[in-house]
Amino acid sequence: MPLSRRSFGRALGVGAALCRLSPSLPLLNQSNGESSGRTIGYAIIGLGRISLQHFMPACKLSKYSKITALVSGHRDKAEKTAAEYGVPDKNIYDYKNFDDIRDNKDVDAVYVALPNSMHAEYTIRAANAGKHVLCEKPMAANVKDCQSMINACKAANKKLMVAYRCQFEPTNLHAMKLIGDGALGKIQAIESANGFNIHPGEWRLDKKLAGGGPLMDVGIYSLNACRYLTGEEPVHLEGYSSVVDHDGRFEQVEENLSWTMKFPSGVVASCTTTYGANMPGFYRVHGSKGMLHMEPAFIYEGILLKAQIQGEATPIDDPEEARDPTQFAVEADELAQCIMQGRETRASGEEGLRDMRYIDEIYRSAGIKLG
Ligand code: NAD
Repeated sequence: MPLSRRSFGRALGVGAALCRLSPSLPLLNQSNGESSGRTIGYAIIGLGRISLQHFMPACKLSKYSKITALVSGHRDKAEKTAAEYGVPDKNIYDYKNFDDIRDNKDVDAVYVALPNSMHAEYTIRAANAGKHVLCEKPMAANVKDCQSMINACKAANKKLMVAYRCQFEPTNLHAMKLIGDGALGKIQAIESANGFNIHPGEWRLDKKLAGGGPLMDVGIYSLNACRYLTGEEPVHLEGYSSVVDHDGRFEQVEENLSWTMKFPSGVVASCTTTYGANMPGFYRVHGSKGMLHMEPAFIYEGILLKAQIQGEATPIDDPEEARDPTQFAVEADELAQCIMQGRETRASGEEGLRDMRYIDEIYRSAGIKLG
């Protein structure tokens, strides 16, 4: 069986893989709307690490996305960034005059890259101003806010996408396809982890801004992966948390959290997240015919997939594609194409809400309340 990522991902088509996992999903790279040369103008809300170091540079490599406005509380930083991206002065906003963006025809959509608890306010204000929204993960700080964001975008007839970049990343898509095609036989169990050793003083440790701890921030990658790999929704979730380092960092959020999930087919999953150790993101999927190991699984580039099928090591790595630094460009273009083609993305607001409900359930079982 030819198992190179190129043969699976390109010849057979990753879009088709997505559709097999969920028949309601549209094919990626549909051609309508692509030949017009149109681009979607994004306003970036929050000029922090993910915006400046990843999303904005990637937009330069995108096909359908352009940065046309900035929203920041720091005028100096905004002006410097605007010069780099050719954004005119009139398209620089702050958090107070942001609503004026409704009159700006250069802006079709916003990218919300603020601390988690601010996602809801800026998504709702953007929708009310007639703009589509690409919102960073986790979608919000709690279930209620996710629902309000969905309602606001629906009422304004605007698209809402959550920035689940791994759902569009070629190696993860390849893993989904292998599983969907039955290459691993019947899936029995998944293990996954993701974490890092957090610096003191980060907003991520402030529950009001973060909503929760590492589960919200990085554990969500494992949770989401278990769902996109199985194509199933968990029916039972249970977690427990702990604090090892009593050094002042974990007064408001958990340090460690492990949780288990059971899926309708009987697949069981066991996941761990932490803010106390640099834990490389990975997943291992165990099937009756083989095992698939993705490590690193969730980083920005260099994601690696290995598999053992029927006891044999199966070479799957394709370093050329695995080093592709354009995950964020693909993500920006996904919403852009959804807008141009009038279709829905699989990484919809409803998808973000589902994860938030599961996070809520895991936290409840661990005796933790969401923000
Ligand atoms: P960051 O701290 O680097 O940036 C946050 C931005 O929000 C800054 O520009 C800051 O000035 C602004 N801000 C406005 N009000 C603020 C306040 N009250 N407190 C703190 N900052 C405030 O954070 P980041 O790492 O860029 O994360 C932003 C969002 O992106 C988060 O929701 C995070 O989960 C998400 N994120 C996603 C990925 C990914 O791979 N998709 C990776 C990292 C972060």
